[in-house]
Amino acid sequence: MDTTINDAKSEIYDPSRKMLDVSRIREDFPILQRQVHGKRLVYLDSAATSQKPNCVINALSFFYRTINANIHRGVHTLSEESSSAYEALREKIANFIGGVDARGIVFTRNTTESLNMVALSWGKSNIKEGDEILLTEMEHHSNLVPWILLAKETGAVLKHIPVTDNGTLDMAAFYKLLNKKTKLVSVSIVSNVLGTINPVEEIIDAAHKNGSVTVLDGAQSVPHIVTDAKTLDCDFLAFSAHKMLGPTGIGVLYGKPEILEQMEPYLGGGGMIEQVELCNATWAEIPWKFEAGTPNYADVAAFSSAIDYLERIGMGVIREHEKEITEYAVEKLLEFDDLILYGPQDPEIQAGVFTFFHNKIHPHDLSTILDRDGIAIRAGHHCAQPLMMKYKIPATARASAYIYNDKEDIDELVESLNKAKRFF
Ligand code: PMP
Repeated sequence: MDTTINDAKSEIYDPSRKMLDVSRIREDFPILQRQVHGKRLVYLDSAATSQKPNCVINALSFFYRTINANIHRGVHTLSEESSSAYEALREKIANFIGGVDARGIVFTRNTTESLNMVALSWGKSNIKEGDEILLTEMEHHSNLVPWILLAKETGAVLKHIPVTDNGTLDMAAFYKLLNKKTKLVSVSIVSNVLGTINPVEEIIDAAHKNGSVTVLDGAQSVPHIVTDAKTLDCDFLAFSAHKMLGPTGIGVLYGKPEILEQMEPYLGGGGMIEQVELCNATWAEIPWKFEAGTPNYADVAAFSSAIDYLERIGMGVIREHEKEITEYAVEKLLEFDDLILYGPQDPEIQAGVFTFFHNKIHPHDLSTILDRDGIAIRAGHHCAQPLMMKYKIPATARASAYIYNDKEDIDELVESLNKAKRFF
């Protein structure tokens, strides 16, 4: 995946240090001004959800104060303004993910719903008994359970690309698993546990040559690395606004228009129809065919400001910044001899996700102790229980970085980990 700087023009980026001016960025995030247990909040849980800059918070409040009206339903000024804000974001998102056709952008609630839509709509019409669905061992439950449900219903067979000891996909095994029965390949671009950036171009290329449809889970990639759906040529891409500075409750499913056109609606109701009779109905054009009921148009309007914010910095710059943090964090965490660090430990193929297991302190205890120092990390199975089973551990601790984190945050994490060791 090309993660080079595409837009280093941003003045809040110092190319010599390859770092963003985090103190200036933090000023935009009111929550980062608060204290937790009397300490500065060190937020290292952005893989779960990101914090929101003022422009997003203000956009939401501005929308409700000045524009609010249901979309596509009325011809009055407010409804027209609300509808155009909603449709304008579709164009913006299409450009953000590489200049794809905006008719392929469907608004959902989150990545989970986007992936379920593919399984329930595309899957039910195209998958039959004996067909194979190829996933990986590192998938989030959102990219496992919809396919488990589909396989139970259709009799399809689930296969998984194994994960190697260094947290990367076993590509030799992938080529062996891919065969004429493989109807669909669905892979996360970046693992939410290992941080691994998977070689998705290669996977898509091979899958397409094999005649398989491809789905990318972009929940952890779209917020952090340049994710160009057009160049990748994926058939579907799913991601969530809340992980990329946007509001909760908005997800995106990008699908190639020619595939979306062949799919049956996922939900029925207002807004997705062309004509309804008592016992029959025909569907609206794509993408509206997949957007039944009143959508979350206010949050969509606020999401627009999140995209603007990310674009002002530049996704290439964000990747460079996180690469520096990754290199630093991996180096520091490897200094602990009682801590197992998972993932590639290589910033070239790892996003800013650091998952570890302390051989004496349970991840939940670790997280609680760190919280006393104002440090927010996550402990648990991270919705990747099969990966935990593979590593034979019940849970891990995970720190994850974003644009408002710097090396100082990693230093505070390390200091608090040392304190925890002394405590136990
Ligand atoms: N896939 C991955 C890789 C994720 O990290 C997440 C969120 N943790 C999801 C899917 C699900 O995202 P959401 O909860 O926004 O549906």
